[in-house]
Amino acid sequence: MEYHDSEKAKEVAGRVEDFMEEVVLPREREALATGEQITMDEIHDFWDQAKERNLFAPQVSEEYGGQGLDFQDMLPSFEQVGRSLIGALAIRANAPQEGNMHTFEMVGTEAQKEEYLRPLVQGEIQTAFAMTEPKQGGGSDPKMLQSTAVKDGDEWVINGHKWWTSDGLNADYYLAMVRTDLDAHPYSGTSIILVPSEADGVEVVRNVPHLGGHGITERKGGHAEVKFDNVRVPVENTLGEENEGFQIAQMRLGGGRLTHCMRYSGMAERSLDVAKAYLAEREAFGTTLEEKQALRHRIADAETRLHAARCMVRHAARELDRSDARIEVAMAKMFTANVTNETIDLALQCCGGNGIGKDLPIAHFYENVRAFRIVDGADEVHRRSIARWAFEDIDETEVENALQFDEDLRIDALDE
Ligand SMILES: Cc1cc2nc3c(=O)[nH]c(=O)nc-3n(C[C@H](O)[C@H](O)[C@H](O)COP(=O)(O)OP(=O)(O)OC[C@H]3O[C@@H](n4cnc5c(N)ncnc54)[C@H](O)[C@@H]3O)c2cc1C
Repeated sequence: MEYHDSEKAKEVAGRVEDFMEEVVLPREREALATGEQITMDEIHDFWDQAKERNLFAPQVSEEYGGQGLDFQDMLPSFEQVGRSLIGALAIRANAPQEGNMHTFEMVGTEAQKEEYLRPLVQGEIQTAFAMTEPKQGGGSDPKMLQSTAVKDGDEWVINGHKWWTSDGLNADYYLAMVRTDLDAHPYSGTSIILVPSEADGVEVVRNVPHLGGHGITERKGGHAEVKFDNVRVPVENTLGEENEGFQIAQMRLGGGRLTHCMRYSGMAERSLDVAKAYLAEREAFGTTLEEKQALRHRIADAETRLHAARCMVRHAARELDRSDARIEVAMAKMFTANVTNETIDLALQCCGGNGIGKDLPIAHFYENVRAFRIVDGADEVHRRSIARWAFEDIDETEVENALQFDEDLRIDALDE
């Protein structure tokens, strides 16, 4: 499908595709066939190759070691890397590191960019975004945040309990969202504070057991449960303006939601490619499966909906490069999350037992994609925002105008 992305976007995505075909996908196939995990040394080797090919960290500015692409231009490259379980990792465009790099670039001080962003891009340190808390803390409703930081001289004293902190097991720093002004509404009294995992009082309780937790690399990011017990960090560890944590998180999530859409749409596309190849080759009841109309129609629907999702994501990316695009992003995220889930489910069904088996990547994709309807805002939370937008202009005059009937023009059916 031709989307007329910019020449620059297409040129980089073409090189990303070559890297995927020549290096990443063959290694992924081998790992799936042998069950041997891809080592950290191999991942570092991917990064070296990505640098040589000028593909490394497309989302980061050149000044800090990336390719300096905006959302529109990184989009087709992110779709390409999403086709593999390890594609995003191989060019250092994987969540949550990619979103955290974006946050440092947006709101970090020059000193913070030197100290944290530069080594983060190079993979010398890892970070994790710690917002969600066990009940009754912040989740779908982040206003329920309970973790706090209180100033004591030139230090913050942090207390709180977080979980589902992705990559939290091996993080060097947490970007912790905590209440810093308890008298203010959370929207204007919350900050993001950098907490070193080595600090006294930080406890990584466990990796929360979860669906799809068995990756094909030896990298152990996990989704951590973490406690902060009177953790002291310097006040200059505040990332962005004090008490503006919600605004910063919103900026981070806008981009993060879209880059998730890009990667997952690549995953859905690859699933369809595998399923179509299987259907073209496999015979049953006298013909290849490709010839069964029942399956052909479902594949046609999946192609159509995936194309619609990609158009929505492109539109949202264009708007996000200009404004906060909250509704466009919410619509694109909710729609793409559902479409990619349905598409991967269909692809798995088409492959029969091979869909469940892990010789092919589809079973991994299936386990992986389900969380997308929950992370970065569950479907219902996005519907809530979209519905609020849909009804916001409906005032009394609108209602009157929309429902007004001109009595003289009414057709009386009984008189006809
Ligand atoms: C794989 C994975 C990775 C994650 N990574 C991170 C991370 O790195 N950092 C981080 O901070 N968090 C992370 N999370 C947490 C994620 O952001 C939350 O799970 C999500 O925001 C939902 O919050 P919750 O789990 O508390 O669900 P709850 O708030 O308890 O909601 C439960 C369900 O209720 C429904 N619901 C909620 N609100 C409404 C409503 N208004 N109307 C109707 N239905 C509603 C939704 O279906 C929702 O799924 C991750 C989660 C997963 C599964």
